[in-house]
Amino acid sequence: MLDLFKYTKELSKHLSRADNILLVCHVNPDGDAVGSQLALYHYLVSKGKNPAMISPNYLQEFLKWMEGVDKINIFIRDRKICKDLIYKADLIILLDFNQSNRLGEAEELILKSKATKIIIDHHLNSKSFADLLISDHTKCSTSELLYDLISEINGGRFLNKAYSEAIYVGIITDTGNFEHGSYSGNTFRVIADLLDSGIDKDRIFNLVFNNFSAERMRLQGFSLNERMVVLPEYDTAYICLTKDDLSRFNYQKGDTEGFVNLPLSIKGVSFSALFIEKDGFLKLSFRSKGSFSVNDFAGKYFAGGGHLNAAGGEYYDSLENTLKLFLEVLKNESPKILIRS
Ligand code: 5GP
Ligand code: MN
Repeated sequence: MLDLFKYTKELSKHLSRADNILLVCHVNPDGDAVGSQLALYHYLVSKGKNPAMISPNYLQEFLKWMEGVDKINIFIRDRKICKDLIYKADLIILLDFNQSNRLGEAEELILKSKATKIIIDHHLNSKSFADLLISDHTKCSTSELLYDLISEINGGRFLNKAYSEAIYVGIITDTGNFEHGSYSGNTFRVIADLLDSGIDKDRIFNLVFNNFSAERMRLQGFSLNERMVVLPEYDTAYICLTKDDLSRFNYQKGDTEGFVNLPLSIKGVSFSALFIEKDGFLKLSFRSKGSFSVNDFAGKYFAGGGHLNAAGGEYYDSLENTLKLFLEVLKNESPKILIRS
């Protein structure tokens, strides 16, 4: 367990001293990355600060309704502005990741920056490249951790609509609306505060989870019908999607979110993988049930990482080679040691 008191003292000292605070999320930001970034932004604005925000690349459609997203500068689009912000910053807070390569094209500039760097995160295997690492993998999301930190700094709950919605989005996206991930009694105490503050949970649920195009639903059907391979001998299933598959269904960023979880609904399947062909590399996602660590699996073979039961990575090879490697290394692993469904 994190010594909340110690870290809030440190964090609060840095926040009050800094004139130019920059909040940065990871590449391909998910709901927790953007949720924690916006929540911290709204808190700091309420305290009279004027923080800036950067995302290494574009946000997914289902996050674009959130209050404050228009203030997030996109590094690959707004390079000049982002470079100036990084150069000017005296405090950079990095949210929801602990490996510098997740800064994408912003990595070099941020690593070189003389600003004090603080990581707030909940992933495993923290190898800090920052001056201060605030990480707690028992939290279901960075948003939950941030909520606790801010409540402590604030001397009591801080709740306003935009802040509460951002924390809520972080928690429901990292847990699949409380379906998986390391949510706990503490998570529900946070949720209770958020609901008491008057957020509209049904509206948020619809904006986040019921916001797909018909083509995305057809792509999901196609993935399960045509592209899912079940390997009962390894308690494993995987789905691979080529660039052609994606364009056939008019793929939009975020459309494959959640696909990797689907094979885990199959009785006996405890390990699921998703391979998506991108330009020059593959986006990998891994999920498991029980004790098989996909964080270790992703790190050992595919230079990725994440959590015990949810991990991802980017792999720079062809789909064919990557699949071959996957099938080869499966033989060395024992997804079968998992708790059976
Ligand atoms: P997803 O499969 O949803 O993209 O990611 C699952 C988990 O793995 C998330 O916690 C995410 O932060 C982490 N993750 C995804 N992609 C990468 C990656 O390229 N590198 C590392 N280290 N972690 C990743
Ligand atoms: Mn997260």
